[in-house]
Amino acid sequence: MRKLVLIGGGHSHAIALHYFIKQPLVNTQITLITDVLQAPYSGMLPGYIAGFYEHTECHIDLDKLARAAGIEIVVAGVTKLDANNQQLVCSNGQVFTYDLISINTGSTPDLSQIIGANNYGTPVKPVPQFLTAWQDILESWKHDQNNNQNEESLLTITLVGGGAGGVELALNMQQQLVNICKLKSKSGNHNLKINLIHRNLDLLPNYNQQVGKYLRNLLHDRGIEIYLGESVQEIVPKNNAGYNLRCESGLEVLSDRVFWVTNAAAPAWVKTSGLATDRSGFIAVNNYLQSTSHPQVFAVGDIAAMVNYQLPKAGVFAVRQGLPLAHNLQRLTQGKSLQPYKPQTRYLGLIGTGDREAIAVYGNWGLYGGIFGSWLWRWKDGIDQKFMRQFP
Ligand SMILES: Cc1cc2nc3c(=O)[nH]c(=O)nc-3n(C[C@H](O)[C@H](O)[C@H](O)COP(=O)(O)OP(=O)(O)OC[C@H]3O[C@@H](n4cnc5c(N)ncnc54)[C@H](O)[C@@H]3O)c2cc1C
Repeated sequence: MRKLVLIGGGHSHAIALHYFIKQPLVNTQITLITDVLQAPYSGMLPGYIAGFYEHTECHIDLDKLARAAGIEIVVAGVTKLDANNQQLVCSNGQVFTYDLISINTGSTPDLSQIIGANNYGTPVKPVPQFLTAWQDILESWKHDQNNNQNEESLLTITLVGGGAGGVELALNMQQQLVNICKLKSKSGNHNLKINLIHRNLDLLPNYNQQVGKYLRNLLHDRGIEIYLGESVQEIVPKNNAGYNLRCESGLEVLSDRVFWVTNAAAPAWVKTSGLATDRSGFIAVNNYLQSTSHPQVFAVGDIAAMVNYQLPKAGVFAVRQGLPLAHNLQRLTQGKSLQPYKPQTRYLGLIGTGDREAIAVYGNWGLYGGIFGSWLWRWKDGIDQKFMRQFP
């Protein structure tokens, strides 16, 4: 029996597991090591924040999936990997040896350049911790509205990072908090302030400029304060409550709550694993999604860097890599040659704007506003729900 260990229940592994239900790997004992049993689906996360979805609707039940695929599941985080000796260590102390591994553990916001960021504010990943912080805000906001204290208490939330995730979250957070306020408070006034701080001069630098401009205007129209070309250097707690964000330019932004949605970073255990990485520390993989230094290691999604392509860290690629990964693992166990995965050069981005509307971006092409908004949201919702329906 060959031992295959899947690390992390990200989007690609969820799809691979689904494939193994119908096409089990022969002579292979598979173990999934995951630090969560409910894996969040990134496409629906902002909609969950806006209150459009229930928790179960946007989380993949890895336990059910693993059971359906007949594989062992271990709930723990991998903390150490020794790729040369084919061994890994988990947070619960368990040690595993393997013949093959596949890594799909995602990324977390890079906090290395911001003094104090590891202690203050909440990174948007790991998602469970982020959702706990968000629930905490919702509860105290509801409490304030119920007690009609909204006239006195001002809530300021600051998001640092103006990529698609940061912008989408800012819009969706605002929507949910304002809706609660409309329901609960007599006056309907809301003392809510949302700031978005972004290092570049353009929002969504990975997308075309028109989309960035459209979203900048939309944020402005919704009263979200945008600070462009500002790099947060330090976060310090204020004496009474909340935080002070200090930027390189000297700008200071005060905030009750801070969320980090900065560029993706790789975990520390990859650095010491012996695996070849790109300059940012992500696992370097070839066109077969296989480590360039250790052929018995596969890596997919955000944690992987395809050396022959420049891919953005987006869930759409993690999803697309699921089947090619499953096929290659299957081919390997059958002694067949691996098949290359060729990512698409352009991909469709659908960004929810918090009001059950969305915008669409495809390369230089964009569709937004007017009559398109609600139609695009229904389209996005249909795609996302269909994606989730495939899982048990
Ligand atoms: C707010 C927000 C909205 C986004 N919206 C979109 C979108 O609409 N479309 C899009 O394409 N992209 C979107 N993204 C980007 C997207 O979230 C990521 O690109 C995507 O989640 C990467 O998928 P993945 O499978 O690589 O990893 P993940 O989805 O992050 O999954 C990794 C899994 O591994 C687990 N794990 C992590 N470390 C360990 C460990 N050491 N041991 C065991 N398990 C571990 C994690 O708990 C997690 O379950 C968004 C990002 C954010 C922040």
